[in-house]
Amino acid sequence: MTNEIREALAQFDRACEVYDFECEELEMLKYSQRIIEIAFPVRMDDGSFRVFRGYRVQHNDVRGPYKGGLRFHPEVNLDEVKALAFWMTIKCAVADIPYGGAKGGIKVDTKKVSKNELERITRSYTRHIAEFIGPEKDIPAPDMYTNPQVMAWVMDEYSHIVGRNTPAAVTGKPLTIGGSLGRDTATAQGGFYILEMLFKELKIKPAGLTFAVQGFGNAGMNMAKILAANNLKVVAVSDSSSGIHDPRGLDIEKLIVHKEKSGKLSGFAGAKTITNEQLLELPVKVLIPAALEAVITDANVNKIKADIIMELANGPVVMSACQKLHKRGVMVVPDVLANSGGVIVSYFEWVQNLRHFYWDMAKVQDHLKVQLSKAFKDVWQTAKKYDVNLRTGAYIVALGKITKALNVRGT
Ligand code: NAD
Repeated sequence: MTNEIREALAQFDRACEVYDFECEELEMLKYSQRIIEIAFPVRMDDGSFRVFRGYRVQHNDVRGPYKGGLRFHPEVNLDEVKALAFWMTIKCAVADIPYGGAKGGIKVDTKKVSKNELERITRSYTRHIAEFIGPEKDIPAPDMYTNPQVMAWVMDEYSHIVGRNTPAAVTGKPLTIGGSLGRDTATAQGGFYILEMLFKELKIKPAGLTFAVQGFGNAGMNMAKILAANNLKVVAVSDSSSGIHDPRGLDIEKLIVHKEKSGKLSGFAGAKTITNEQLLELPVKVLIPAALEAVITDANVNKIKADIIMELANGPVVMSACQKLHKRGVMVVPDVLANSGGVIVSYFEWVQNLRHFYWDMAKVQDHLKVQLSKAFKDVWQTAKKYDVNLRTGAYIVALGKITKALNVRGT
């Protein structure tokens, strides 16, 4: 067992220990219901063939169809995908949306293939998993290095296979083919709503607080944008190559233009270049990891100076480090709550696709806020009641709902 899946199960065990769930069936959650591991050849632009490896893990569907992102990354592996699928089961239960958990991945470096090659890779992957996905079975969505264009290819290929236009087969699609308003910014927007609720509970005034964001993609860049638009001071951001820091605060809109033009964050006027490790150790009020998992571990936990860590990425703080931070009074807002805005608006997109009736932005935002307020309140009160950190609180909330579903459905 590698670290990610061991991590996920340790978080599960901890919640079971605290709450003492009386449900033997919960043992099911230690396993994935279905694991699809494939290898497929793809014709490259130069005429050669390359074999790619892909995965789709369907962890649990007791509360509804499987739901989870599709990740393209050179380091994707089965254990990582298993852990990410497990976390989706928990996340959908915390958010109280009628889905189970799944995740997919293809081992590919998107920076080293052309757009046409990426399309062929995506379509071939879709053909191989088509019989296992669909609006009532398993609904993929974007994750690291996948985007609305990739979702459009998945949806198109799937629609050809089943012989009818099926927008509800994936979420995170472009608006023109059934995407939802607000889905592109939903993960960050949801994270921002959670932060607002947290500040209110902690009686913290946000003005003047400092933020550092690791990762400058869908989750991280949009979070930095939303923070800046709300007059909050983002002093550091990073991407896969490096980070930048300016204690006076970064102009995020100008930074986005700079990154688009130069292809990198470094070289931005007035800011110092730093490493990703240095970004994590900055003396900021809120640290927001929004890239990969396991970036805060026992090796660097003692160097973390932030008061609040908002897990916009999945699994960025390992459990042992999380417990140490909790003892030091550092609050970690767990991924299964912090980044659930993405899957919540994916759910809204699916509902709109099934109904063929589309919502305006105000309706999406209002519903997102309502859903997240309830999830935050449940997690906050449960953590207080059992005197545990927010992660264990979130797991108790989720496992309670999953237990009910397991019991009522029977074996
Ligand atoms: P993305 O592909 O849009 O962006 C990823 C960003 O991370 C890029 O800026 C990339 O340069 C950076 N990055 C890659 N490797 C890095 C490294 N080693 N150190 C620092 N930065 C690195 O991906 P995303 O959709 O923003 O996903 C980021 C995280 O958020 C993932 O953990 C993902 O599972 C999680 N998440 C995303 C969504 C969503 O809706 N997109 C929803 C929930 C959770």
